[in-house]
Amino acid sequence: MRAECYYDDYDKKENLHFDSKVVHGALGCDPMTGSLSFPIFQTATYKHRSFDVSTGYLYSRLQNPTRQELERTMAILEEGFEAFAFTSGQAAHMALFGMLKDGDHIILSDDLYGGTFRIAEDIFRELGCDFEYVDMSDIENLEAAMKDNTKMVFLETPTNPMMRVSDIRKVAEVAHKWNAVFVVDNTFLTPYFQKPLTLGADIVTHSGTKYICGHNDVIAGIVVIKDDTYSDHFHMQLKSRGNGLGPMDSWLLIRGLKTLSLRMEKHNSNAKIVAEWLRKHPKVKKVYYAGFEDHKGYQISLSQTTGFGGMISFELDSLDTARKLLSDVKMILFAESLGGTETLVTYPLTQTHESIPADIREKLGINERFIRISIGIEDPRDIIADLEQALG
Ligand SMILES: *Cc1c(COP(=O)(O)O)cnc(C)c1O
Repeated sequence: MRAECYYDDYDKKENLHFDSKVVHGALGCDPMTGSLSFPIFQTATYKHRSFDVSTGYLYSRLQNPTRQELERTMAILEEGFEAFAFTSGQAAHMALFGMLKDGDHIILSDDLYGGTFRIAEDIFRELGCDFEYVDMSDIENLEAAMKDNTKMVFLETPTNPMMRVSDIRKVAEVAHKWNAVFVVDNTFLTPYFQKPLTLGADIVTHSGTKYICGHNDVIAGIVVIKDDTYSDHFHMQLKSRGNGLGPMDSWLLIRGLKTLSLRMEKHNSNAKIVAEWLRKHPKVKKVYYAGFEDHKGYQISLSQTTGFGGMISFELDSLDTARKLLSDVKMILFAESLGGTETLVTYPLTQTHESIPADIREKLGINERFIRISIGIEDPRDIIADLEQALG
């Protein structure tokens, strides 16, 4: 069947700078009507023009113009070949791990989002995959762990929640020496601050729920691929698992992306102010923040990112202080998640990292006094005032 389609031609907008690209997306406007706001194609299926002519759209599980606009925009922003939007970050990682086979060895960051750990251990280990957790902020650890059957290296940098930073270029070099596919979960920094595909990664993933959406109102996931090697794999995942993001949620992400640059700047500058304040507080024992000049990965960050993001973790002096902080915050919200306009405090021990075995958690330092904070875009004076009264 021949396809005749208004939505096929888009300009990669290579002449534009990043802050303009987030605003103008891939097509930007609707090519048929000129609608400035990209339409929400709330449809399951598409009418064919005649016996042998279609619009290129067959069925929304496979293709939907609103999802496609989001995917093309993400591919432009991450400087990749193609992107895929899923119903959650978890669904994106399920689709990614769908390329693994019985007998494959996979290396993941040892300090990892709990849900990713759960996919590995509860689903793919059962299928015969062997997962190993490595602190890749020391490249020697990765070199020592690589095996002939290492199929994938999966990196978070900075890590969640310990904010460890790994050298993406060096990890790429090691992974590729062993012919492993190298994946970076770029949820924490977004392409505004870090573009892993330009530093050697093969695939970038996001929990689109976080900074990409930015407003704590959608669950979504994104995969971006560097070239066409895994294109068929991800199309097949969307087609067979039926895990593509719906048109309304895709539109909310397109809408959220327009302010990505502004939001990331504010998250970044607020986090710097709050991290420095936390460090001086007598009840705060240790602050984990990638933007401190004495952070172990500071020089690496300067070489591969243009900012440190909005995430901070810290250890308090006692469980009582932690309990008081989480109960007494007023403007700041005690909730699981990150990357939105509101400042959120999270208790990794029982929330995001509950799935991580106790021995690994302890080794990392995730204890009963450990707090993670996602700095929002409010006035930093209000964030500090709230922390001050809640810490007591
Ligand atoms: C939240 C998160 C995920 C999971 O994404 P969901 O959208 O919640 O399914 C994966 N990785 C990181 C780093 C996250 O913060």
